[in-house]
Amino acid sequence: MRLSKCLLQTLRDAPSDAEVPSHKLMVRAGLIHKAAAGVYTYGPFLWRTLVKISTIVRDEMDRAGAQELLLPQLQPQEIWARSGRLQTYLDAGIMFTVKDRKGGDFCLGPTAEEAITDFVATNVRSYKQLPQTLYQSQTKFRDEFRPRFGLMRGREFIMKDAYSFDADDAGLDASYRAMRAAYVRIFERCGLEFLAVQADSGDIGGSGSEEFMVTASTGEDLIVYDDTTGYAANVEKAETRVEAPSHMGDPLPMHVEPTPGDKSVEDLCRRFPRLSAARMVKTILYRVVHRDREEDVAVLMRGDQDVNEVKLKNHLGAASVELADEARVRRVTGCEPGYAGPLEVKDGKLRFVADTSVEPLRNFLCGVNRPDVHALDVNHGRDFPTPPFADLRRAREGDLSPRSEARLKTARGIEVGHVFKLGTKYSAAMDACFLDRDGKKKPFVMGCYGIGVSRIAAAAIEQNHDDKGIVWPRAIAPYQAVVVLARGNDPVAADAAGRIYDALHASGVDTVLDDREDQSAGVKFKDAELVGYPVRVTIGKHVAEGKVEVTVRRTGGTELVPLTEAAARVKALLDAMPSGRHVGRS
Ligand code: ATP
Ligand code: MG
Repeated sequence: MRLSKCLLQTLRDAPSDAEVPSHKLMVRAGLIHKAAAGVYTYGPFLWRTLVKISTIVRDEMDRAGAQELLLPQLQPQEIWARSGRLQTYLDAGIMFTVKDRKGGDFCLGPTAEEAITDFVATNVRSYKQLPQTLYQSQTKFRDEFRPRFGLMRGREFIMKDAYSFDADDAGLDASYRAMRAAYVRIFERCGLEFLAVQADSGDIGGSGSEEFMVTASTGEDLIVYDDTTGYAANVEKAETRVEAPSHMGDPLPMHVEPTPGDKSVEDLCRRFPRLSAARMVKTILYRVVHRDREEDVAVLMRGDQDVNEVKLKNHLGAASVELADEARVRRVTGCEPGYAGPLEVKDGKLRFVADTSVEPLRNFLCGVNRPDVHALDVNHGRDFPTPPFADLRRAREGDLSPRSEARLKTARGIEVGHVFKLGTKYSAAMDACFLDRDGKKKPFVMGCYGIGVSRIAAAAIEQNHDDKGIVWPRAIAPYQAVVVLARGNDPVAADAAGRIYDALHASGVDTVLDDREDQSAGVKFKDAELVGYPVRVTIGKHVAEGKVEVTVRRTGGTELVPLTEAAARVKALLDAMPSGRHVGRS
């Protein structure tokens, strides 16, 4: 392809509504054009990238035995009513709804569990036809509350969605494993660094939900991971281990000491320099709302740790938890905030739960529900009843992994894929059944597996860019190489460019030729860096000696190569570029 014939308009400045690098760079490189909030035209260069991503996805889906089909985007609301999800989607405002001329209610598919279940229910009758995994790659529509970050969170976006149908849980496990393995290969082939993170599987339960996260400092999710075992979890649900303080000694008699004005762990560390925060227990009061009632709960947490409110809420099975306000603290403790504790408790009904980090503590400091004093050398089980223990703390970088002796690291991530064991949630609701070996009618056991094809392009840029522009991984670059005619298209240069271009094509390198006569070499170089071709071949002043420059975009490293060897050198450089990396598993 010749750039002189391509539609590629680059811009010097990013639009004012672009906050993240991928959005800014996609607009500046002429890859996308905004039609409405969260709705974009994918320009010809970006489309090449999206096709390459889709091809990798398709290849790996097929290899895993999944079959491609195409479900309707215009879906009757009736199937959503049958699954029981219609009202939730309408209430959340996420569903784009439309009426047909007869007043029939339709929607633009935000996802396709209902459509696929409806299809399989009428086409699969017997266990003999199972298992089946079906997939499609198609535009999805979601009226996101805050469409933003360009292709990262669109209202119209491309998703590959796959669905597995099995006769039983063991079958589902196998289908899930096959899809998960395909996902790992997909992200490796796309050239991305990623993590497979345990996700909350909500009401479905079990171990059956993982999110694939592309690491990037701009990611919305905070992940902790152990790179020796591959354990990774969203910080919201991550388990960790913390070490007990050493040298706590045998239980000593408890004593109450004056601590005027000391309300925080830092204040108390200053007053008692020989006592570390890990030897203090803070008491944090929560207002806990259940479906049918409300209660006060006191959480005992080691002084150097923090409460993870998601874990607390899950542990209590509550609808919500929130920090008690001052008035509530006064009512429950009978004392001003800052001195709450498990000793001399006024409210006999107050429920206590303690983090597991409190369990091994001996001779610790805590509040007494009296102003300006704290108790020292406190021991639970002796000075107050041993509370129930649970993991309620927020995971932090440097904590011990739950799976090994390694320290946890943290990373920010962008969710690009999600694999999920659904079980019979949809099939049971929609009465989608098959006749099993024993002659009984049973609901399909389902899994669903989504990949954000357009979000992958954005995530790849978030992970791979510099101040000059995009640095595409070789497998998903719009073109892998650009040949730049830097000093005019004189016959010698044009001939050299043509020969290299042909040789690159012959060796399978996707190449574009920058032969624009109206642009300076400087502009061509800037554009090449902005658009992010992995390798650039420059036909410059050395062409007279039969040499050209070959530059690697990521490193900026340039070498002078004989014209006749240029194509082979480009190919070798591309081949040497690393594929993606599953963090913790390589
Ligand atoms: P998120 O939590 O980011 O809103 P989700 O969990 O609702 O996403 P899924 O229903 O699991 O998304 O969809 C599968 C995949 O589709 C996601 O992993 C993500 O890569 C992609 N995706 C979801 N919503 C969008 C969107 N608004 N724009 C672009 N891609 C999206
Ligand atoms: Mg998801």
